[in-house]
Amino acid sequence: MSSRLRTAGPFPGPDHDHAACVTRGLDAAEARCAEAGARLTPLRKRVLELLLAEGHRAVGAYDLLDRLADTDDGGKRPAPPAVYRALDFLVDQGLAHRLASVNAFIGCAWPDAAHRPQFLICRDCRAVAELDGGGLARNLDAAAEAAGFTLLDAVVEVGGLCPRCRPDETSDPDAASA
Ligand SMILES: [Zn+2]
Ligand SMILES: [Zn+2]
Ligand SMILES: [Zn+2]
Repeated sequence: MSSRLRTAGPFPGPDHDHAACVTRGLDAAEARCAEAGARLTPLRKRVLELLLAEGHRAVGAYDLLDRLADTDDGGKRPAPPAVYRALDFLVDQGLAHRLASVNAFIGCAWPDAAHRPQFLICRDCRAVAELDGGGLARNLDAAAEAAGFTLLDAVVEVGGLCPRCRPDETSDPDAASA
């Protein structure tokens, strides 16, 4: 009953090479900070690494603090305010996103590209897919323009059920027909 191997797509399957995702995210963060003249301090990098390591799933700040305490090797755990500041930095730099609808954070899937963040968020397992769609952004731009409105912050968060959590598609497809 193993799930089908899914290496691509907005919701990567459990068998994908996630270590590559983490490496790619950290490399992109280093490059982005160097370009912006921002400092990716060890704590900032560690927080980003933990966000990315979560595997395309939203992480709350409290869970993040727990994980930092668990994995801390030097015996000194970072103070919560320092961790919150690190999160603010990552969000400001576009390396992570704040998901207001679930009060959590996610490492950015496209940190090396300018983008308007759009997310599909699973209400069951908190899996998060960051979409790379320009169409929705263009529609928003057009709607805002028509309203004489200047978009400053247009994070799109859509709640639902991910492919692993939604009910099996084998249920009768004709049941809903009129
Ligand atoms: Zn991954
Ligand atoms: Zn992003
Ligand atoms: Zn799910």
